[in-house]
Amino acid sequence: MAKLYFNYSTMNAGKSAMLLQASHNYRENNMQTYLLTADFDDRSGGGQIASRIGIAAEADTFAQEDDLFARIERVLAKQQISAIFIDEAQFLTKTQVWQLTQVVDDLNVPVLCYGLRVDFRGELFPGSAALLAWADEMREVRTICHCGKKATMVVRQDETGRILTDGDQVQIGGNESYVSLCRKHWREAMKGSAATALGQDD
Ligand SMILES: [Zn+2]
Repeated sequence: MAKLYFNYSTMNAGKSAMLLQASHNYRENNMQTYLLTADFDDRSGGGQIASRIGIAAEADTFAQEDDLFARIERVLAKQQISAIFIDEAQFLTKTQVWQLTQVVDDLNVPVLCYGLRVDFRGELFPGSAALLAWADEMREVRTICHCGKKATMVVRQDETGRILTDGDQVQIGGNESYVSLCRKHWREAMKGSAATALGQDD
């Protein structure tokens, strides 16, 4: 039986490289894969999944209003696809994650999602919350903080290295960068700001 998988991590853990390697394993065995990534991820140019270690592959893109069940059903009608890979899965809507469960259950094709668990405020992304609730299998892609402990949190920095403690969940086209930290060092980095993780901002 096909399953819905969620491979989650913080920033810079090598998710995209893992996705590309897993897709490559299928193709090496003469099985076709269908790759999707968010259309507002302009790190690597439109329609491409790229990893920091220099490997990349062409990908289709999804926007938040797309019906992914209808889209994937059309793709499957045209060609034999053995697995569907989705990068930047944190940007899926809850509705789209539900559509992916239908792809798995009704079209019987495995869907492998890769994405961030929490944003820089320590809040779940909507797509990740739905995947954590509904995926058949979940796996944490691990990376480490500067102290050597497992990193589970992320901070956003401006171009001067100053930690940003508020702003939109998704920042497009800015000069911000992200650093992955353990929870203790994330708390220290966020100190002096409102305790966003406790919901005091809303
Ligand atoms: Zn640390």
